[in-house]
Amino acid sequence: MAPKILLVEDSDTQLKFLKEGLVENGFEVETASNGAEGYKKLFEFAPDIVISDIMMPVIDGYQLCRMIKNKEETKKIPVILLTVLDKKIDSFWGKKAGAQLFLSKSIDIKELVSSINATLRRYPITDEYKNSVAQKANKENSAQSQLNTILNDLLLKSVFSNEFRNLSDFLNYERILVEKLFSLLSSFVEYGISGVFFASPDNLSENILYIDTLGRNLSKNLLSDIQYDFFKKMDEFKSHNDTKFEVVRMLVGKEADYKFSDLKSKIIIPLVFDKKLIGGICFYSKLDIDYASFGYFDIMISELLTIFKMKYQYTEKEFMSVLDGLTGLYNRRQFEISLEQEYNRTKRHPSDFSLAILDIDFFKKVNDTYGHQYGDYVLKTVADIMKKSFRKTDLLYRYGGEELIMIMPETNIEGAVIPVQRLRRSIEEYDFDYNGVKTKVTASIGLTMNYQEFNSHTEMLKSADEALYKAKEQGRNRVILHEQ
Ligand code: GH3
Ligand code: MG
Ligand code: MG
Repeated sequence: MAPKILLVEDSDTQLKFLKEGLVENGFEVETASNGAEGYKKLFEFAPDIVISDIMMPVIDGYQLCRMIKNKEETKKIPVILLTVLDKKIDSFWGKKAGAQLFLSKSIDIKELVSSINATLRRYPITDEYKNSVAQKANKENSAQSQLNTILNDLLLKSVFSNEFRNLSDFLNYERILVEKLFSLLSSFVEYGISGVFFASPDNLSENILYIDTLGRNLSKNLLSDIQYDFFKKMDEFKSHNDTKFEVVRMLVGKEADYKFSDLKSKIIIPLVFDKKLIGGICFYSKLDIDYASFGYFDIMISELLTIFKMKYQYTEKEFMSVLDGLTGLYNRRQFEISLEQEYNRTKRHPSDFSLAILDIDFFKKVNDTYGHQYGDYVLKTVADIMKKSFRKTDLLYRYGGEELIMIMPETNIEGAVIPVQRLRRSIEEYDFDYNGVKTKVTASIGLTMNYQEFNSHTEMLKSADEALYKAKEQGRNRVILHEQ
């Protein structure tokens, strides 16, 4: 049986010329004079191959090609697109549209025939396949509505991807990133509880499972069941270091009700890159939910992987460096190293040293009111004020988000209180002004020193943290000393 060609071309003379040439060479040819007609004939004629002009009214060659390739029933049929000008952009779009071949319209018939034969050999279409195409003939929607479906679908996908890409603005604020991610996920995934975990390249830091419960409080038991369930799955995928999974941190919560056994459906997705576990995400629900049937799940996962990858690489870079990028202070890792060193040194050669932790008051409100850039500016400015308030021998660190730390060697707590109070006052008095937007900020500080009572540097750090907590409790904008 002669191979069947569907020829789509809007110029009558071209159409006639090509048809004659192809029939002479033993093909059975059906013609259409535009994309819409071509799409209709596709089902009536069930060809072995489609050859289409690109420039046509109503529905052009790319669109026709996309429609053919988008449909399970027709996507195997090879498409050759004919171009007038050999432009790069034509072949770019053609490839995007899924065409098998591009040929110049000025090609002679002999060359065209041999290209068609080569394509037919490469992409053979079975009679069975053609039959099933033909059976679709009457059931098919019009080309226009088919095209609209594709366009809507593409638009949705790109909007969807964009939403995820926007998260990359928050790579260095884990908590904010998590909040934004949950708010995005909850807008299109049905869940009762969702969890997110970012693996850290630095195995010193805690592995936090952030949980979103859409406003409900979870019982301790349910939380630990979920934590166990989730991290057990992660365990199968970890390979980069001997990660211990421990901490669960809830973002929101009001009223408790269900138990783990009430959860009917779940999906746990480990995100793996370069054989390393870089994070994971999970959804649990009391309802029966087939997550996989959700249309955009695949795109969601690949977008999540991109974001998690970026976050991982960002953290890795931070981890390798000594200084914090935003404030120019030493980073948390350096702090952990120095505190232990200083503590051990003063054990061997007794001398005093003090430690202060500063936390900006109501910083979340600064971010919420003026935006994160403004928050960054405040943080950087506080760090700058801090640099001015201390001696060169004092060591300054950014511990985490908006928590800054000072280590003052050879200084007892009475001596340390002076620069620390001066710092607190300088922050209180400072007129923050970023692009004309003015505000006032205060900070709370917990202060301690290497008292004999401590058994380790961690106990010392804890005592500063507790003093800071008291400072917050007692009304903020104050320095509280650890009491022996
Ligand atoms: P308070 O300490 O007085 O109790 O209140 P707070 O609002 O400061 O409380 P909390 O410590 O819970 O919030 C700190 C917020 O700081 C959380 C996060 O939104 C924000 N944050 C953390 N790191 C950064 C950062 O690097 N830049 C900006 N702009 N915001 C950050
Ligand atoms: Mg704070
Ligand atoms: Mg804080």
